[in-house]
Amino acid sequence: MLKAMITMDKLKVFGLTYAIERVPYISRDEYRAGEIDFEKQEIRILDSLSVEHQKQTIIHEMIHAIFVGLGMNDYSDNEALVQSLATALHQCLTENHGLI
Ligand SMILES: [Zn+2]
Repeated sequence: MLKAMITMDKLKVFGLTYAIERVPYISRDEYRAGEIDFEKQEIRILDSLSVEHQKQTIIHEMIHAIFVGLGMNDYSDNEALVQSLATALHQCLTENHGLI
C-alpha cells in the first residue's frame, strides 16, 4: 500500500522559495524529522512520517525560516521554542476550519 504523503513541494517565506524534499533519512547520528538548508533553500523531511507529522515538520522548518528572515537567529537556534510554536500552530490551524 502506498504511504500517504503531502503534495506540496515548495514553501515561500519572505520572498524566498524553499524546495521541499522527502528523504529516507536526515542524519545517521541523531533522529531528526526534518531540516532546513538556508543556502540551498531546501527543506528535507523524513518520508516515513505520517502526513500530520510531515505538515507539523514543515511548519517547524517554516518557523526557522521566519526567525532567520527576521534576523532573529537566536530564536531560530532555540529548538524548544521552534517546536513549541510548530506544535501550537499546527494544532490551531488544522483544528479551526474556516480560520484561514
Ligand atoms: Zn529545528
